[in-house]
Amino acid sequence: MAQMDEPGYLPHGNPCAQCGKPIAAPDWIERSPGRWSYLWTCRACGYRFEAIAFYDEAKREQKAMAA
Ligand SMILES: [Zn+2]
Repeated sequence: MAQMDEPGYLPHGNPCAQCGKPIAAPDWIERSPGRWSYLWTCRACGYRFEAIAFYDEAKREQKAMAA
């Protein structure tokens, strides 16, 4: 089982930036402090693009402390 520290959601069904067809899941995910990068490859037209999700580390820590 994957033990990834997810930013709260995992994007899926992201529409292709070129042809608009939904892509089931990102090809590749890169985790960096404060952000996640998702590499999407469209199976329909072959278009590749990256989407970046930013999140606030400090907010996550505050939430953890309050819990
Ligand atoms: Zn496409």
